[in-house]
Amino acid sequence: MKVLVIGAGGREHALAWKLAASPRVARVYVAPGNAGTATEPRCENVAIAADDIAGLRDFALRERIDLTIVGPEAPLVLGVVDLFQAAGLACFGPSRACARLEGSKAFTKAFLSRHGIPTAAYGRFTRADFDPAFVRAQRLPVVIKADGLAAGKGVVIAATHEEALATIESMFGGAFGAAGDTIVVEEFLPGEEASFIVMVDGTHILPLATSQDHKRLADGDRGPNTGGMGAYSPAPVVTDALHARIMREVIEPTVRGLAAEGTPYTGFLYAGIMIHPDGTPNVLEFNCRFGDPETQPILMRLDSDLTLLVEAALGGRLDAVRAEWDARVAVGVVLAASGYPESPTRGDVITGLETAARLPGKIFHAGTQRVGADVVTSGGRVLCAVGLGATAALAQTQAYALVDAVHYAGMQCRRDIGYRAIERERTG
Ligand code: AMP
Repeated sequence: MKVLVIGAGGREHALAWKLAASPRVARVYVAPGNAGTATEPRCENVAIAADDIAGLRDFALRERIDLTIVGPEAPLVLGVVDLFQAAGLACFGPSRACARLEGSKAFTKAFLSRHGIPTAAYGRFTRADFDPAFVRAQRLPVVIKADGLAAGKGVVIAATHEEALATIESMFGGAFGAAGDTIVVEEFLPGEEASFIVMVDGTHILPLATSQDHKRLADGDRGPNTGGMGAYSPAPVVTDALHARIMREVIEPTVRGLAAEGTPYTGFLYAGIMIHPDGTPNVLEFNCRFGDPETQPILMRLDSDLTLLVEAALGGRLDAVRAEWDARVAVGVVLAASGYPESPTRGDVITGLETAARLPGKIFHAGTQRVGADVVTSGGRVLCAVGLGATAALAQTQAYALVDAVHYAGMQCRRDIGYRAIERERTG
């Protein structure tokens, strides 16, 4: 079969690599892809932007693509799945209506309260109905969120009411474009975060292996928020009991609620959960796609044929399949560009990729591009080095051996990815 992966990041490289490993797959096209997907066996880049959804549909029709998997949120929010379906093409991801779970924080907060799903208390405002007294009455810190897509930057945890009001003013003033026309003011939740990612076929749910990511730039979870500096799987914080609770209190009511409202959800569904010290799994956000960088370590552990799982989901048969997982731990370390996250530089030459390719584990490309004979940086997050090991400590050692094999000017990475899991291993 011929498969199309939409997107250009580390998640898409991992998806393409895993799909190409299926004996059922002859060719994987990646639109637009990166320098890693360009050289992956049986993979090929196609120069169509991820948000050119009509161009993607035309390509899929022309090439008779059997199966399309959407990586990033932008084309989903634009309605790529609806467009492909209307053309009779199999495309795995949520409809435009369901993608509002990621595309609008206000929609999601209202949905969660309608269905009694645990989440932080909140208020939503536009400039016309904004009430500063509501903000001043909030306990500190208080969380301010732009309603729409803001490339992971639309969330500010304000330490003072003045900072909160200034943030809101800048959002209404257009700091995030139309994404900030509506804002959400939210109670700050304490606890430990976990990512919970499942596949959904409208009705049935197939949970994927658990994972945890590291959003802050610097070791010890300090510094600014980023798109993610690393992730590992499994996440021991998600015990069997907590897993059951998240399924029962978050995932199942979400899938049931969407179906009941006439918009059944198909695709990867990612819940960002804050586990309160009392055990309550509060929803921080939904993503309507696989996580990046969680995809990289999770797919390194997937033993099942991904095409079979996706086809089962598209056929409404997820209850009839199982996902088999490698028992080892996978740790993925993101290598970011100089200047990330504020203003990443581009065009720095990356060396050592051939050496790294001979080491155990795998490097997935993200913001990379081939220029002549060189592979150069072309985005904030450049590579993700994934190690596998019987323990998190061993997986981490393997990942950092890969990291230490590559080099480019101003390379940034954390040195402690997986530390929580390693700490748990040490203390039993
Ligand atoms: P979001 O995009 O909504 O997941 O927010 C990005 C990050 O901000 C999350 O991963 C959390 O680390 C943090 N965050 C968001 N909402 C809250 C909240 N209500 N309480 C505490 N931290 C939050």
